[in-house]
Amino acid sequence: MSETSASAKQQQSSREKFIASANKGKILANKCTKCGHLVLETVFFCEKCAANKFEPVELGGTGTVVTYTIQAVAPEGFEDAGSYAWVVFKVDNSQLRVSGFLGGIKKPADLPIGSKVKVNGFSPKYGLLIEKLAK
Ligand SMILES: [Zn+2]
Repeated sequence: MSETSASAKQQQSSREKFIASANKGKILANKCTKCGHLVLETVFFCEKCAANKFEPVELGGTGTVVTYTIQAVAPEGFEDAGSYAWVVFKVDNSQLRVSGFLGGIKKPADLPIGSKVKVNGFSPKYGLLIEKLAK
């Protein structure tokens, strides 16, 4: 097996692990083993301390809405989704910001900034699926 295909295989499996975590309502991140800095993507060097060792950590999938974009008219291929929002939320107990898909959002009043949301799965079509938590 060549190095290229080995690395592609590793990327594939980290994506599969991320999806498996999302389907359990969690977010899989990488933690720097030296300083504890969390990153979502696979990186080679920690941006805080330049160490190059990371370990996977599963974060609870809850967070707070930071910003979002409402798509009232679904683009081609998304017609079945109705109106929805692409939401960026800050994951609880971390500095990580993650974006996800939240259906049923028609107007800003449906999703005030600061709303609590949680991961509730992963769709091959829409990516990370999230739901709004009742206050
Ligand atoms: Zn670090």
